[in-house]
Amino acid sequence: MQPESPSIPADISAAPVSAPAPAPAKLTEVSSLTLEGLTRFLTEDLGERAFRAGQLYRWIHQRGATSFDEMTDLSKALREKLKQRAEIVPLVKDAEQRSVDGTIKYRWKTRDGRFIESVYMPSEDRKTLCVSTQVGCAMACTFCMTGTLGLKRNLTPGEIVAQVHAVNREVRKLENLETLRPLSNLVFMGMGEPLHNFENLKTALSILQSEDGPNFSHRHITVSTVGLVPMIERFGQETDVKLAISLNASTDEQRSKTMPVNRKWNIAALLDACRKFPLRQGRRITFEYVLLQDFNDSDEDAYRLIELLKDIPAKVNLIPYNENPGLGFKTTMDERAERFRELLCEGHVAAFIRQNRGRDIAGACGQLANRGGEKASETPQNPELP
Ligand code: SF4
Repeated sequence: MQPESPSIPADISAAPVSAPAPAPAKLTEVSSLTLEGLTRFLTEDLGERAFRAGQLYRWIHQRGATSFDEMTDLSKALREKLKQRAEIVPLVKDAEQRSVDGTIKYRWKTRDGRFIESVYMPSEDRKTLCVSTQVGCAMACTFCMTGTLGLKRNLTPGEIVAQVHAVNREVRKLENLETLRPLSNLVFMGMGEPLHNFENLKTALSILQSEDGPNFSHRHITVSTVGLVPMIERFGQETDVKLAISLNASTDEQRSKTMPVNRKWNIAALLDACRKFPLRQGRRITFEYVLLQDFNDSDEDAYRLIELLKDIPAKVNLIPYNENPGLGFKTTMDERAERFRELLCEGHVAAFIRQNRGRDIAGACGQLANRGGEKASETPQNPELP
């Protein structure tokens, strides 16, 4: 989805006619290009030698450069040429909130004045970033604050990877680290439905996994979806990273109440796509299950879940709900959550209660809504599913 165009003044037709100023040439967003695309741009459009593309790519995606002036091993003439013809799309830090548990939520402002968030979650053995893929979200899950925003637009590949580069920079400074890439893991569970912005997600993944870029291993990247069934198939064929499914219900009736996507692809269709998903050896699909008190957390729900997942290599992350004002759901009590987990384990389904990170800064699951940034959609959301 493109940024909205500015509205045209009503009296435009009365304006004196004069020769229009030449439109500024559109700049190529080089931070959105794979190395292959960047090589084409440099050689075909700028008449440069191919190895220059590698230099430029490493500046952007390994060192996280945000301006051509930083690229001191490129000639001044080339840097000037790049300034005329290309741009690195910046994300400007707009706000930062730190949780008592070490989680940091960053709010970024995009060039067109939109706001997105990413959440940094450090732990003993890993430094994970939760990445956004869209401004807002069209999926309208009723327990999620992002869902109240509606979809404003897709993020470009450059804006997706810029979150990773920017947080790498922040963490380097914060923890006084030398390493260029302190982040170890990425989860695509921030604002937006990643598979609803599949092409840009795919390009971003290819950049993030590239050896001349940040070089993340496929084992350390997880993409979460609400279940856009046809896209799950493509995701399996065209990427090699891990899949998580946001399930959150044990019956279609429940799921359709909270996740409108279920009216288009029900649980049976979703699990069928999971069964066909090309899993690498030893890998399982993660099923996320937000526990909602008296809604989906009964013993019967646990038994149904066991039945649903019995022939899928699966693990279940049980997520204590983060109550959001006005959304009407309540958090399952700890004891109930533990009982639910035990029942799943007794039914041979690996289940874990996920530690909730950043709850005090609204940085936890389902809470990203740019408080003070993007406004909630004023019209009821009726998602147009692909
Ligand atoms: S839970 Fe995910 S898919 Fe659903 S509305 Fe929130 S951000 Fe969108």
